[in-house]
Amino acid sequence: MVNVTLVDRKSNALTPSSLRCLSHLPTINMTVGCVHGCTYCYIRGYSQYPGDDAVVVYRNTAEQVERELHRKRKQPIAVYFCPSSDAFMPIEPVLDQSYRTMKLLLDHDIGVQFVTKGAIPDRFFDLFAQRPQLVAGQIGLTTLDDPLNAAIEPQAAPAQRRLDDLRRLVEIGVTASFRADPLIHGVTDDDAHLNALFAKAASHGIRDVSASYLFLRPGIIGSLKRNIRDAQLLRCILAPYETARRSSIRGGASTGLSLPVEQRRRELERVRRLAGHHGLALRICGCKNAELTNTRCHLTNLTATARSPQRDSQQAQLW
Ligand code: SF4
Repeated sequence: MVNVTLVDRKSNALTPSSLRCLSHLPTINMTVGCVHGCTYCYIRGYSQYPGDDAVVVYRNTAEQVERELHRKRKQPIAVYFCPSSDAFMPIEPVLDQSYRTMKLLLDHDIGVQFVTKGAIPDRFFDLFAQRPQLVAGQIGLTTLDDPLNAAIEPQAAPAQRRLDDLRRLVEIGVTASFRADPLIHGVTDDDAHLNALFAKAASHGIRDVSASYLFLRPGIIGSLKRNIRDAQLLRCILAPYETARRSSIRGGASTGLSLPVEQRRRELERVRRLAGHHGLALRICGCKNAELTNTRCHLTNLTATARSPQRDSQQAQLW
């Protein structure tokens, strides 16, 4: 049973992010906390995290965003949902605010970009279908194994639902992409898992995949220990990090434990080969893998907003 608290937001809704990939767009969180409950999620280490069975919903987000847009001399090209929550968690006040805020932005010719592990309700597809060139959506999924997903991402949408949503986004012309992130070494990254996942993604119209390995920020190990009930699975998740060194995320303040560099290089090359067998190009997150690459995993997608006919005649205003 999730404890939902509705509050008025006091600070700005549109906020900058220190992450390199998000530095050119304002970001927005609809909530504090997230009911999807992904056991590896970094928000569990935040001081304001409301607890595993609680979420705080900002009930005035749409109105506040409208006020903030009025105050801005130049409008942002797009807004990114949600760096530390999920716009599509199955709680009606969250979905209501997400819908109203996304509609407001699209009505102002401002792009909507999101990443989700939730189930996207029908009314959002109807909304996105009206302005698909302004929308870019990413679906996160690392395995088709639902019992495993239930252990790792207990309240996120089932794998097939996420894939169906991915297909629907592609069909209505939204720039849709696929994130296999975070892969968990020895759990979700064996050849059989990845072949099945990539084959499905390819059959749903996807041509590239972003991936990186689990990055254990402070607080996440405690979350895994509290929430993964299967002791063998927990051992499997943590074992590769026993010899890991602390590293930092490029452009961000946080540090954490990564798989050792050479091992990560090897495994990501294998992931690239497997993705390639299914016609998928692999994008590696250069923020979580600064020792390996400078590439970007396309957390945001400016091409989507650049395709807007209305925007073509304007100077794109980056955040
Ligand atoms: S859906 Fe995203 S924000 Fe929510 S718990 Fe999972 S990783 Fe965290």
